Amino acid sequence: PPSLAPRLPDVVRPDPVPLVTGRFVEYAQLDHAASTPALESVVRAVATATRTYSSVHRGTGWLSRVTSAHYEAAREEVARFVGARADDVVVFTRATTDATNLLARALPAGTPVVVFAAEHHASLLPWPAERTHRLPVPSSPEEVLGRLESALVALAGGPAPLVVVTGASNVTGELWPVERVARVARRHGARVLLDAAQLVAHRRVDLAALDVDWVAFSGHKLHAPFGTGALVGRRDWLDAADPYLAGGGASAAVTEAVTTWATGAARHEGGSPNVLGAVALAAACAAVRRHRGAIEAHEAHLTTRLLEGLRAVPGVRTHSTFGDDHDRVPVVAFTVEGLDSHLVAAALSAEHGIGVRAGKFCAHPLVDALLARDGDGRHSTAVRASAGLATTGEHVDRLVAAVADLAAHGPRVAYRQDPDAGWV
Ligand code: PMP
Repeated sequence: PPSLAPRLPDVVRPDPVPLVTGRFVEYAQLDHAASTPALESVVRAVATATRTYSSVHRGTGWLSRVTSAHYEAAREEVARFVGARADDVVVFTRATTDATNLLARALPAGTPVVVFAAEHHASLLPWPAERTHRLPVPSSPEEVLGRLESALVALAGGPAPLVVVTGASNVTGELWPVERVARVARRHGARVLLDAAQLVAHRRVDLAALDVDWVAFSGHKLHAPFGTGALVGRRDWLDAADPYLAGGGASAAVTEAVTTWATGAARHEGGSPNVLGAVALAAACAAVRRHRGAIEAHEAHLTTRLLEGLRAVPGVRTHSTFGDDHDRVPVVAFTVEGLDSHLVAAALSAEHGIGVRAGKFCAHPLVDALLARDGDGRHSTAVRASAGLATTGEHVDRLVAAVADLAAHGPRVAYRQDPDAGWV
């Protein structure tokens, strides 16, 4: 009989890759925070939907009706996946950046925005500069709440502010106190946008339970393809805003003199939508939702192994906003004494078959603050290892052993700095 034990969904695995030595290895892609491998069920869902591929909502033909049904079923799955309330709208977007920019365009005139400098640039930058109140990188969840409270008190009496908060940091993986942030915001009549780009693949998000107004996330960080994502939440600001993309689909009726715009998701989904992307995104949501328990158990184990393994390596320093013991998804930022972070990443890939990322991860103020706070003046960038459901214990052990080897002996082959390609 089939096993009833919780199991992980199947992922698409790449073919083995050659190392500089010529040996072939299964690549350990420890870069889930950038993008995640596709699930087999996502590939199957796209293959099935491609058989009845047609334009949505416009045609009355059978194929068009089937495709429209796929598209709307995908919307319902996304709503279920994030625990949307009955009145919430699900707008399909190209990714998180597209979703935060959509909400920025729908911001009622005069709305102040409160955001921590620790955010990813996608959540830090879309807001009108003159109305954005940037709070410094905090060092504890209590500081998050305290600074937010003070900022909202200072804005009292004006238009209701928008608070933007990350669910999990893309640099450190740490969870932010979203529920408590939402409670503070509510007390002051503010609204909340949750950037869940790094959260949804790892932990359950429930809009209603968290009491946040909108959530934004990306398909390519959730085992679905690039070019997919969603903004889910309250419809009033979105219905009152100009269409994000004016055109067919966004317009309900057009005469020579007057345009009447659609309301709901259609208002901001002008043009022929990415139906296969929506189907893929929904398939990923459904799989992750069904396997949530197994994913969380697997990742809790990986996170401990990753963090403790790296912390035990002499010369390696891990960097955290709230402290290394704070709850996190399996993402760790670190530096290696005496080695440029980009060189570490290049050597890990070429010599050990491990994919990580080096740099400031589109969160420049956060990385600058963490390195300064940790007295790591010789590094201006960090290395980030990020795991997920496709990661095995062997991948993590290989990383820890490889970092230990690099920290002790340096790279085993010579690299040069290419102005375009970095260390090669
Ligand atoms: N927010 C966070 C926390 C992220 O990690 C990312 C991607 N690194 C984004 C937003 C932007 O996502 P995308 O590039 O898919 O638009």
